[in-house]
Amino acid sequence: MDRTEILDGINQQVSVCEKCQLHFSRKKAVPGEGPADAQILFIGEGPGFFENEQGRPFVGQAGKLLDSLLLAIGLERIKVYITNVVKCRPPGNRDPLPEELAACNDYLERQIAVLNPRVIVTLGRYSMAKFLPTAKISEVHGQSCWVKGRLIAPMYHPAAALHQPSLKPALVKDFQKLPEYIKLAEDRSAPQPCETVAPAETMKHEENAEQMNLF
Ligand code: URA
Ligand code: SF4
Repeated sequence: MDRTEILDGINQQVSVCEKCQLHFSRKKAVPGEGPADAQILFIGEGPGFFENEQGRPFVGQAGKLLDSLLLAIGLERIKVYITNVVKCRPPGNRDPLPEELAACNDYLERQIAVLNPRVIVTLGRYSMAKFLPTAKISEVHGQSCWVKGRLIAPMYHPAAALHQPSLKPALVKDFQKLPEYIKLAEDRSAPQPCETVAPAETMKHEENAEQMNLF
């Protein structure tokens, strides 16, 4: 089986999954999309209204903002992989519950294992917490940190910037660091477990990565 077939197999399992209560209210599960050789993985929170209708990630308002953020740095959406920590829509777009995150985690782990991305951009608190469980997004957004050989770059969620316009300039600025992070990840042959790479800022939560038990 090649990588595309393995990803298709995961998508197939997600589409009929009943491992948590979110399957009761979903219309379409949203496994994620992108090429199997994507070097960069974006992880959001969970499907919203339009994603649930279409079975595709980030196709609503937050998706439009994500598209424009990608466009602004010359990164084509079709070249990146985009998924979420939960693959089915939480009713009324509520936050995912710990048991839902736990039930869905295995799909994300398998996607990460197959894609083997060098850079993972977490969008919002829930995907950040998977890699940096005690970090505060207001403190670490836009910085990056090596975790188990991957560069983790936590960013604000595009939907948060839509609800709270004061966050948008930071989100735009943080995205502008991504080309540099991608280059850094490509150049790097033997990454350390967790290292500050942001040029001007210091990641305050280096210790977080060491507490983590990922992949
Ligand atoms: N918000 C998310 O976190 N994920 C999506 O797929 C869409 C909106
Ligand atoms: Fe399964 Fe994840 Fe959907 Fe829950 S959210 S039913 S674990 S695919």
